[in-house]
Amino acid sequence: MFRNRVYYQIKPLLPWPVRLAIRRYWALRKRERSRDTWPIMPGSERQPNGWSGWPNGKQFAFVLTHDIEGKAGLAKCRRLMELDRKWGFRSSFNFVPEGGYAVSRELRNDIARGGFEVGVHDLRHDGRLYCSRRVFAQKALRINRHLKEWDACGFRSGFMFHKLDWLHDLDIEYDASTFDTDPFEPQPDGLQYHLSVLGSQAGWQRLRGATLHTTARLYPLPSPG
Ligand SMILES: [Zn+2]
Repeated sequence: MFRNRVYYQIKPLLPWPVRLAIRRYWALRKRERSRDTWPIMPGSERQPNGWSGWPNGKQFAFVLTHDIEGKAGLAKCRRLMELDRKWGFRSSFNFVPEGGYAVSRELRNDIARGGFEVGVHDLRHDGRLYCSRRVFAQKALRINRHLKEWDACGFRSGFMFHKLDWLHDLDIEYDASTFDTDPFEPQPDGLQYHLSVLGSQAGWQRLRGATLHTTARLYPLPSPG
């Protein structure tokens, strides 16, 4: 984590070729070290204990999400929505509420009306969301305001950073910032088999018909306390 923090602090100052060279170096080392667990972690083919199966006897879930990180992405949302729709998919669009662009109410409404989902993606997407407990608590208040304004229930942090214990500060029904195995994420300690939210009726109500998130990325929030 320390290395990540340093990297994301200085990243804006680094020329693009240097960033690329650093990332390439990290990626090659990681690929070597993760040979046995990536892209498919052994054991992931087994059903979790207590898993009652997908609703209505379905065999699997397919999850499609789009994280919109800049103006260029924002400008493509409607086209992307049409493309998803053309192939029979509904996806979630996760927007950065205080980043380098402003997402209009009109676009959010069109996304929701089309059966897609609007989610909150980080706060500023600067890699500093979890830099301290106190700062996170302050940022959580802002995130909660955006969640409410957008009528959103899902959250994904920038760079898939996560501190699952702190998430209770957020008024969300799911967090999509973890994964089963992905050594290439800056914080690679993913979760496995935390799927119980999918077994609950409430979880399915939110998931039904739309989007959703790579199932293994779903983190069910247990009641605090
Ligand atoms: Zn992102």
